[in-house]
Amino acid sequence: MELAYDYPLYRPPSEARSLIFQVTLGCSFNKCSFCNMYRTKDYSERPMEEIHEEIELMAKYYPQTKRVFLADGDALNLRTDKLAKILLNIKQRFKNIERISSYSMPKNLMQKSMEELKVLKSAGLDMVYLGIESGNDRILKKVTKGATSKMIIDSCKKAKEANFILSCMVILGLGGKKYTLQHAKDTARVINSIEPNYVGALTLYMEPEIEEEFLQKFEEPFAALEDREILVELGNLVDNINVKNDVLFRANHASNVYAIGGTLPRDKNQILSKIDYLKTHPELLKPKVLRRF
Ligand code: SF4
Repeated sequence: MELAYDYPLYRPPSEARSLIFQVTLGCSFNKCSFCNMYRTKDYSERPMEEIHEEIELMAKYYPQTKRVFLADGDALNLRTDKLAKILLNIKQRFKNIERISSYSMPKNLMQKSMEELKVLKSAGLDMVYLGIESGNDRILKKVTKGATSKMIIDSCKKAKEANFILSCMVILGLGGKKYTLQHAKDTARVINSIEPNYVGALTLYMEPEIEEEFLQKFEEPFAALEDREILVELGNLVDNINVKNDVLFRANHASNVYAIGGTLPRDKNQILSKIDYLKTHPELLKPKVLRRF
């Protein structure tokens, strides 16, 4: 039994087994030059009656559901009272629920007061996924992220203060050859400042539909990183991450050249050794045709 989803539908890899309810459609920003996820959709909020009907229906079919993901791109853009009602209904209908999560943009978190975020947390929102992409302000501007590194840090700190589990994404190769070192260092600086629970490193995958726009918005020649340079950048990123609390770091997305991961700071040397080994063993890297964003 599947709901009549409005495709395309995206969810983080770690939500593969979650039940998904689309509470909003598309992305309320929809302007990041590297992102092709919701270009075919205008942002809208789904009628509350429909969402509650779907929750009721799925509770009959899948009463044992433990995890729910609220799609699409930024469910947190919903008004707090509406989102809280949805969360409370999910918790009431699915007695075994363990985790409800959604994507969030920095602006979604900044637009809500701490009190509102705490209302959502106590209503059942446990985890948010947020794209840092880069900690470098020049790159963030060039890819039209709509947020500065300060805004990203502030919004993530707010999410942590509200007690959400925080999972952040960064994109390897986003600054191309010219900014690779700065991208790695500044992204590590932002991660160090936030200390998210999870960090996922993806690799830039330019879909043909958005390539022209990406290059035009970049406003200077963009030279994409080769596989070895991606590994160098990943090494620089990991090397510059210095966190006091555990951060589960993964570069195992479908877009990555190789699946690497571990808990920082504990596994730092092990991850760096693996990266060094891969630099001299390109035959172990995932073939390009198998990589997707
Ligand atoms: S990266 Fe996120 S915020 Fe940016 S356009 Fe895509 S879904 Fe929207």
